[in-house]
Formats: sequence, C-alpha cells, structure tokens
Amino acid sequence: MDYISTRNKEIVVTPSQAIIQGISTDGGLFVPVEFPQMSLKRIQELSYKELAYEILRLLLTDFSEKQIKDCIDKAYDEKFDTEGIAPLIQVGDDYFLELYHGPTLAFKDMALSILPHLLKASLNINNIKEEVVILTATSGDTGKAALNGFTNVDGIKIIVFYPESGVSKIQKLQMNTQEGDNTFVVGIKGNFDDAQNGVKELFNNMNFVEKLKENNYILSSANSINIGRLIPQIVYYFHSYIALLGEGKLRIGEKINISVPTGNFGNILAAYYAKKMGLPINKLICASNDNKVLTDFFNTGEYNKIRELHLTTSPSMDILISSNLERLLFHISGEDDELIIELMNQLSKNGYYKMNSTDFKEFYGDYSTEDEVANIINKTFKKYDYLMDTHTAVAYNVSRKYKKDYNDNTKTLVVSTASPYKFASTVASALGIGIEDKDEFEIIDVLSKKSNRSIPEAVKNLKDKTVIHKNSCNTEDMRSIVESFLKVGETHD
Ligand SMILES: *Cc1c(COP(=O)(O)O)cnc(C)c1O
Repeated sequence: MDYISTRNKEIVVTPSQAIIQGISTDGGLFVPVEFPQMSLKRIQELSYKELAYEILRLLLTDFSEKQIKDCIDKAYDEKFDTEGIAPLIQVGDDYFLELYHGPTLAFKDMALSILPHLLKASLNINNIKEEVVILTATSGDTGKAALNGFTNVDGIKIIVFYPESGVSKIQKLQMNTQEGDNTFVVGIKGNFDDAQNGVKELFNNMNFVEKLKENNYILSSANSINIGRLIPQIVYYFHSYIALLGEGKLRIGEKINISVPTGNFGNILAAYYAKKMGLPINKLICASNDNKVLTDFFNTGEYNKIRELHLTTSPSMDILISSNLERLLFHISGEDDELIIELMNQLSKNGYYKMNSTDFKEFYGDYSTEDEVANIINKTFKKYDYLMDTHTAVAYNVSRKYKKDYNDNTKTLVVSTASPYKFASTVASALGIGIEDKDEFEIIDVLSKKSNRSIPEAVKNLKDKTVIHKNSCNTEDMRSIVESFLKVGETHD
C-alpha cells in the first residue's frame, strides 16, 4: 500500500515513511492510493484489538505482523478504564460511541496511545538513527494525549503549542503538569489556527529543517495531518458497527448515520475512510459549533475562513482551518492534485475558495449554538440520566435536528469525544448547578455527586500535581523557542 501527496500524486511513499514525515515536502497530506475492503461477516466476532490488527495490517503493509501486534498491545491496555476500549451506550433511539476512556479523557487517546509505537516501528523499518522532534499544535486535547503518549519515549522529543486563552482550565493544567525530560509545552498568544499555521510553516521552512538535520534531528507531527493518527481511528467505527450487530440492533449491511463533533476534520474523515473500506454508512453528519465554516461549506460549496473566531464552550472545535478537509477534496475530486494546489493557494492568499461541481451528498453539515448545547446537556440528563460533554452535545443536537428535518430514522451513532469532567464548569452550569466561588475541582465533586458517577483517576490526580511548564510566546517566536529547547545554535546567514 502506497501513500501519495494530495498536492502531487507523483510523490509516493511507504506507510512508515508517511508516518515519519507527518506532512509531505510539498505541503500536501498523505493519503492511501486505494481503500482495501473489509468483510463485515469475517470481523463480527473480533475484539477491539483483533479488529485493529485486521485494519492496520491492510494499511500499514511495510510493518511486520509482530510489529503491528506489539503496537496494538502496548496501546490498548489498562490505560483505558474499560475493557471494551470504546463502549457504545444506548440513549433513547441513539447510540453514543464513548471514545474518552483513555488516559487523558478525550478521543485523541484512541490514536495517540498507538502513534508513538507506530512511529518507533517506522523509524526501525527505515533504519533512521536521528532523533525525532514532534511539533504539535493543539486546541486542547491533542496536546495532552500526545504528551502522555510520547513522554519518556527514547529518541523522541515532543513540543506542544496551545492557544493560551483558548483551552479549558483542566486542559491547561493537564498539559502544564506533564512530566518527562523530553516534553515541552508552550502557550501562544493567538488561537489554534495560528498555532497550526506556525507549525506547518516550520515544517515547510527548509532553512529550519536543514539546521535541525545538521544537529541530528528530524521533524514529525502528532496532529491529524499525520496519517498515523487517522488510521487507528477507522477501527472504532467498524467496532461499533459489529457491536450493534452483536446486540441484534442492526441487520448486516444495514446503514447507519454517524454524527461527529468536528474541528480539524480528522475524526469524521476516519469515518469516511471506514465507509470507503465497506462500512455501511448513510449520512456522515458534520457537526460544528458557532465556528461553522464547515456547515457553510457543505451547504454552499464555499469555504471561507474570513470571519471572527468565537471562543465557545467546546474549545477543541474552535477552528477555522480544518486541515483534513484537503484530503476529502482530493478523494472527491477524483484525485485532482492541481485543483487542490489551486484551492489551498486561494485559501492562504484570499482566505476562501469555492468548489464548483462537487457532490457532497454523503455529508450533512449543521451547527449548534451555545444555548442549544447547554439545553441538550440538561434535557438529556433529566430524561435519560446520561451526562455528556459540550463537544458531544454539539453532535447530538445536530443529529436530532437532521433526523427531524429530514424525517430520517436511520440508526445514529453520536461520537462522544470527551469526558464531561474535562469541561466541568460548563456542564455544571448547563445542569443548573451554581458554580460561583467554586474552583474547578469543587465543581467536579458536585457534578460527580449529582450524576452518581465516579471521578476518573486522571482528573483526581491532577489536583496535586506541580505546574512544570510556564512557557509563553508570540507566534513569530515559535521557531526560536523550538531552537532554544533543542539547544540548536543561532543562524549565521
Ligand atoms: C479534537 C476534538 C474534536 C475535533 O476532532 P477533529 O478530528 O479535529 O475534527 C472534537 N471533540 C473533542 C473533545 C476533541 O478533542
């Protein structure tokens, strides 16, 4: 299986090379040249780990069986607080796919608990001896999940940039208390898009890349621009489908809808890839918060980032440039790499682009307002005793709107991306709990009593941890701060 760049199909790399590079040298993203087919009949009885193996072996063809199995064993172990890894909970007529049972309480753990191992194996396969520097931009959850996955991994350093005033208190504390000599965390004065652009620019800055090389470093990425993030995410879509088959809720081949709270378009793209690999999906529901660039795109064909970024109660989706949409456009346009270059140039020069003749009927895009988010958290808790976080609420609300407006009774999977405890103050307010003069941990206690659910260990532990990282910088200074962490000298040119 080869991978090609969305901006130049002639750039062809192996799976392990795609994972090491993170992003192609021309700025494009790596995609598989074809989508292998899964047989639903054959996978019905498989556990999460067995299913992961069946999917990964088809997409990571230059890994040995042993390498893939080792990666899977190291990733999906007791770090997850449930044996099923990704449990499915029925609420009314809908099913919540809970992806937040990993060590950092967000769905990013599903991929970032395995990516470090995939990267290590990739380095072995290619006989690479240089030290790897992972540069990561985060809207809050990727940062902690990546730090957690890569901490103390030999031969790899990780540097995380997050928007200083764009993450929740718990998210910030999770990152700034990260231990490990190889971890660096920096708050930037800007939003997530600024952080992501800054990182992408560093990847494409040949002078910088060369300088690192001279110092025996190579760059890689833990963001969902890295195909090694997306591939492990395909697994849980198939897994939830076979779970529904097992419970007799679906007939084999029956289609489902999947509603995904979307930011960088990674998670929903993994669902689209699952569809391409044979998962019966009717609609992919792309749910946004007030930053509804994608809603507008799916409804008009115009992608326009020239608008104010709203800081919402679902901060991990406060994004105006959804990087992985580039991959979808590539597939849907019949792999037209020249068109992709054109569109991406327009986006960076003018701030918008328009698609003419493209068909997005596999997708439905809509958004939830802040009031709708609070309302649905409250109502669902009262009616079903089910507590969800703000991101999940965005997706649930949009899926209900869609069902009603289109009179579609297809069974729906709502992708639940974070623990409600990660966004405790907002969730508590939505339930009508007074939060004035309570700190985040007191709010978590109240929430736990009210909902009768225990507090995850990862949140409890946080309370007594020491803040280790106190760095902060302007976006222009991202390069120099990276160079200072790596102790790479001044440039003399
Ligand atoms: C990252 C994240 C999202 C958005 O996922 P994308 O793959 O970037 O679209 C949604 N919810 C939570 C809680 C997240 O951490």
